[in-house]
Amino acid sequence: MALSCLLRVSLLGFGLVGLAGAHARTLLERDGATSTKKPSVLILGGGVAGVIAARTLHEQGIDNFQIVEARGELGGRLTSHTFGAPGKEVVVEAGANWVQGTQTGDGPENPIWTLVQKHGLKTQFNDWFGSITTYDFDGFNNYTDVFDDSGNNYTTLTVAAGARVDKQLVDTTARTGYQLIDAKLRTPQAMASEYYQFDWEYAQTPEESSWIASSWGNNFTYDTDMGGFSDDNQMSLDQRGFKFFIQAEAAEFLQPDQVVYNATVKTISYSSHGVEVTLTNGTALAADYVLCTFSLGVLQNDDVAFEPALPDWKQEAIQSMTMATYTKIFLQFDENFWFDTQMALYADKERGRYPVWQSMDVVNFFPGSGIVFVTVTGDFSERIEALPDSQVQHEVLEVLQAMFPNTTLPTPRAFWFPRWHSDPLFRGSYSNWPASFFSEHHENLRAAVADRLWFAGEATSFKYFGFLHGAYFEGLEVAGAMAQCIQGGGCAASELQHVEEVKNAHPYQIVM
Ligand SMILES: Cc1cc2nc3c(=O)[nH]c(=O)nc-3n(C[C@H](O)[C@H](O)[C@H](O)COP(=O)(O)OP(=O)(O)OC[C@H]3O[C@@H](n4cnc5c(N)ncnc54)[C@H](O)[C@@H]3O)c2cc1C
Repeated sequence: MALSCLLRVSLLGFGLVGLAGAHARTLLERDGATSTKKPSVLILGGGVAGVIAARTLHEQGIDNFQIVEARGELGGRLTSHTFGAPGKEVVVEAGANWVQGTQTGDGPENPIWTLVQKHGLKTQFNDWFGSITTYDFDGFNNYTDVFDDSGNNYTTLTVAAGARVDKQLVDTTARTGYQLIDAKLRTPQAMASEYYQFDWEYAQTPEESSWIASSWGNNFTYDTDMGGFSDDNQMSLDQRGFKFFIQAEAAEFLQPDQVVYNATVKTISYSSHGVEVTLTNGTALAADYVLCTFSLGVLQNDDVAFEPALPDWKQEAIQSMTMATYTKIFLQFDENFWFDTQMALYADKERGRYPVWQSMDVVNFFPGSGIVFVTVTGDFSERIEALPDSQVQHEVLEVLQAMFPNTTLPTPRAFWFPRWHSDPLFRGSYSNWPASFFSEHHENLRAAVADRLWFAGEATSFKYFGFLHGAYFEGLEVAGAMAQCIQGGGCAASELQHVEEVKNAHPYQIVM
């Protein structure tokens, strides 16, 4: 669609903005008053980044924006699901479930934790490392010594990554790192323990992950010596859904006409004069600026077309980061026959085969619910998404039978898992930083194009990629830079400039 199409009729009159320049004037304001039109902004996507970007613009006095969201609610990957047999339903989280890192003393507070407390969500400390039972293919097997060693290895891995940064050494994969710190044990029990430390967080293997970025991904969130929040993980059990905190936050400032639901973007046309967004239903929205908060997976999969095509430096950045997949598979039984701890680890001969289990049927969670779930990640997630539910259920029950060889397994009353990788609105769960993704790629992933097309979301966060708080900080910072640009304070925010070509790996610059 050509950018020369002027004055498209659009939803709520928002698009009655000519594409004549940054400060195009029209006679229509949101409140219907006749006045000079202020520059308009389309915020594409109503997840955490989109909502916080909207709040930031509002706080900067820019209210001529509209969030365009494909789903019928705000929250994005904060997606809840009512699970269970009739009469025994519980709201569980298909997507994000934990506030990862809260606050230590009066140190920095995770902004997600701030909002969760502000809006009164029900959460519970989840004891990932102190409340765990270990199993393998022969049933119960106490290998907590191996498990503890694996925790120590992980700490050594992150410390060694820090030493590489100090010496300005290049990055490698986390697998290389494990090898170099002499964490080479390859028993199924050691592999499962390593999986719990690594893959369960990054949703990919050490082979697929940057040694340095995975280490700072851990430290900036959990390690108070690195400015992290705390090592606590608070699990949302709120029956309004974990999404409630962001929806309640949005309700404090968002006017009904500032969000369009059930509106799927098909094309984004941009030039140095403005933007035009076309929805799948044919509606066109025009604006002066656009902030795209779609997931990295959506950008990678051409679910949305850019006109003109994004510049090479942007495309290379998008394709060089990885969209990983993390899948929780929920089962409900009439009664609990499994472990008493919150967590369990299963070591299969195949690494990553239904390894991490969590019981919801424990005190302080959902006692009596009969619910347990198992998590898989990465390629294994993609594999099971292609299978029918019945086959996945069969495989999961095989593993449960291996864990409990003396139990006659009952038939589950309910079974469900989300397919994040196949979902065209997400194409995965969250981003992961591979060893071949350089700092300049990151700058380019984050950089604005033609000062009109801006990008934010968990994947653009240097310190917190993958996390809810990464999406939060990116919504805040990128919308802050946009506001400066819109209000005439300069559009060339240095941190949002691009590098034309990424030529050579050179050591990382760590920004504290
Ligand atoms: C299974 C899973 C577990 C996770 N666990 C945790 C956790 O415990 N803790 C944590 O901190 N983080 C966790 N995360 C990561 C966290 O959910 C994300 O980092 C965060 O929600 C991303 O927010 P965002 O605003 O960047 O993107 P999104 O939430 O993806 O928002 C983008 C929005 O764009 C919309 N959209 C996409 N395509 C279109 C289109 N064509 N037209 C219109 N709208 C469109 C989507 O519907 C979505 O609402 C998890 C994620 C998943 C999936």
